[in-house]
Amino acid sequence: MTIQKPTTERPIAPQQQADDVGLDTMLRPQRLAQFTGQERLKDNLRILIDAARGRSEPLDHVLFHGPPGLGKTTLAQVVANEMGANIRHTAGPAIEHSGDLAAILSNLRTGDILFIDEVHRLSRPVEEILYPAMEDFVLDLIVGKGPGAKNVRLKLPRFTAIGATTRLALMTAPLRARFGAVYRMDFYDQAAMETIVGRGARILEVPIVQDGMAEIARRARGTPRVALRLLRRVRDYAQVRSDGVITHETAVAALDLMEIDRLGLDDLDRRVLRTIVEKFGGGPVGLETIAASISEESDTIMDVVEPYLLQLGFLERTSRGRIATPHAYRHLGLPADRAPRPAQPALFAPDPESEP
Ligand code: ADP
Repeated sequence: MTIQKPTTERPIAPQQQADDVGLDTMLRPQRLAQFTGQERLKDNLRILIDAARGRSEPLDHVLFHGPPGLGKTTLAQVVANEMGANIRHTAGPAIEHSGDLAAILSNLRTGDILFIDEVHRLSRPVEEILYPAMEDFVLDLIVGKGPGAKNVRLKLPRFTAIGATTRLALMTAPLRARFGAVYRMDFYDQAAMETIVGRGARILEVPIVQDGMAEIARRARGTPRVALRLLRRVRDYAQVRSDGVITHETAVAALDLMEIDRLGLDDLDRRVLRTIVEKFGGGPVGLETIAASISEESDTIMDVVEPYLLQLGFLERTSRGRIATPHAYRHLGLPADRAPRPAQPALFAPDPESEP
């Protein structure tokens, strides 16, 4: 067995508080070359960055979309580092009034990056301010009140907006159209996940064997954030219950104790599947009904649970609701022939992302 020796790769100061938030910052790749996986996206991004740098221009506006934890925020920071630009972080729900956005925009300097997380949650009045800002780099303000109110147009420096969203379909068409480059992030494959776990272990200085790495990667549902969280918990387990080295056995024991199954499903995933199967005969059943019957937020189910179950082929989204597939039945240890028949293809299939 080969034990990976810790190295000194440590992007920020070692005295960093060893809580999970601090660790999260430590674990974030800083440059494109350190960012594992998403190869096609990285190729496209590299061209975009090199071309803009070659012309000494700010980058075009960029939108990343995909399930949470795949690296959208990290990539925004990476882009800023590669461009040598300042980055300012905000999020759709944090910008309540159009004046809040106007204040942020008027403080930007040429080449700055404005990262807007959850960009689909911007309110309409805020979006109205963003359109001309992104398109023409101007800020339209109304000064004064009543009959004396005047429209004033201020010039803004050329900045780059980077948006991130888990729900592309909820973004308005005009806002989507303002982003010159739109990239979808996919779940990571096993090899990329192993590299991410290995890099995390090096930074955390945890000794880990290849098989231990593979086991954590396998159960992390193709999501770096999950992989790094599992790695920290398995590290705790290895420290308390054995000699601190993450072997295959310690990884399996720790993950079993956390009730993460061999495909990476956790308690919530299984509750969703069981509810569809046991309470609704396998479906079809609507998302809100599922959410109500297990007392969970429908947003959590839609953003976190469903994308992975769909990817595994355990769930189908139809116009009449969610259906559990024979694969899901088998995984739950139930006879697959009890699964509902596959859905008839709908004549006008709805965009699966658009319907809750
Ligand atoms: P999102 O914004 O898509 O929810 P984040 O960018 O916050 O995801 O990433 C979640 C965590 O996963 C962060 O700790 C980040 O360091 C890590 N991470 C994401 N993508 C990668 C990657 N490709 N390589 C290594 N770590 C990654």
